[in-house]
Amino acid sequence: MKILVINTGSSSIKYELFDRQNNVRPASGLVEKIGEKTGIITHQAVLPEGNPVKIVEKGIIQDHHEGMNRIVDFITGSKCGVISDTRAISAVGHRVVHGGELFNSTTIIDQNVIAAIKKNIPLAPLHNPANLTGIEISKSIFPDALQVAVFDTAFHQTIPPDAFIYALPYSMYKKNRVRKYGFHGISHAYVCERGASYLKRTVSQMNFITIHLGNGASMAAVKKGKCIDTTMGMTPLAGLVMGTRSGDIDPAILVFMADHLKMSYKEIDLLLNKKSGLKGLCGTNDMREVIEKKNQGDEKAEIALKIYTYRIKKYIGAFFAALGTLDGVIFTAGIGENSPFVRALCCRGLEGLGIKIDHDKNISSSKKEREISPSGSKVKVLVIPTDEELKIAIETEKIIESYT
Ligand code: AMP
Repeated sequence: MKILVINTGSSSIKYELFDRQNNVRPASGLVEKIGEKTGIITHQAVLPEGNPVKIVEKGIIQDHHEGMNRIVDFITGSKCGVISDTRAISAVGHRVVHGGELFNSTTIIDQNVIAAIKKNIPLAPLHNPANLTGIEISKSIFPDALQVAVFDTAFHQTIPPDAFIYALPYSMYKKNRVRKYGFHGISHAYVCERGASYLKRTVSQMNFITIHLGNGASMAAVKKGKCIDTTMGMTPLAGLVMGTRSGDIDPAILVFMADHLKMSYKEIDLLLNKKSGLKGLCGTNDMREVIEKKNQGDEKAEIALKIYTYRIKKYIGAFFAALGTLDGVIFTAGIGENSPFVRALCCRGLEGLGIKIDHDKNISSSKKEREISPSGSKVKVLVIPTDEELKIAIETEKIIESYT
């Protein structure tokens, strides 16, 4: 079965083709800056005879429709095609950012599902419209394929009301759907499954704290395979310090910004989402640069790292309390997978909770799933590379098999 996974953003399309029968991923790529003069497509493939190819094309890509057609030309074309034509694709798995309270699992897309994703646009005004564009184009280009939605919020729908309702007037929840939803669910779910499998267990036997540290960052408390709390909220702004997002702050600061600093709500939104976090604290959102600056004696970078890792440590303690017992802590995504320094700071001083890191294991460089806690530790500390595209492909395959 061949499955195309698509992640459509407002000006980008990330894609990957999976051949599930042969357990290979013949093609993948990224269309960026759609609608801009500096448009760029990066396509990679392994041709049927085994040769790898990489193609980069620059120039304007008018709209998402053209972007998708270019992808199809790559994967079916004479130059670097890996399938004969679009009919070889059985299903298209779409990453959909916001399923709200309407979706707690992967679903086959029909008109009702499209209407429901539209209904959730107020909750994700940038992402859901782009996801819908991807779905509509995909339906026209792959009319015979099943279209499947995999939601980034679905994994968090098991969070109980005491953890997802804010202490605001109750009507804000009931009427306006203001509540915690959580994001990065595809990644948290994937690393839990892989973590359990690495430890030769099933997720239903494990209590995990998962820590996704990319440019966006979030944590989840996962009890026997079910998420019971997460750090992001109604939007991805809440929780951890991120590349450019503030994470948790006193909400009265927004009133202060408006009242005393005379900032408009758009300026506040921009400041909190794009000019805060690591970038706001020390001038860069690239963790490699933050560490480099700190090593050169930059005080702002040093305090930024302390604030960043203290927030994570605090949430480890909070989620341990929420879980009651803990079997494992899992680090993932760009920073979680690649920075022994950040991992060590996050776990420093948590020995009393049974959370320890083995220095040598932590610094050994590897791209593989691995344990970095001392052998025999009660709480395992793991590094599990995330793979959201694979998780979407697996979910898509599962739902199709149960459907047909
Ligand atoms: P992601 O959004 O998952 O691609 O992660 C992006 C983040 O990972 C950026 O802040 C990068 O600086 C960070 N990152 C990637 N490699 C490393 C590394 N070797 N050490 C520290 N941070 C890294």
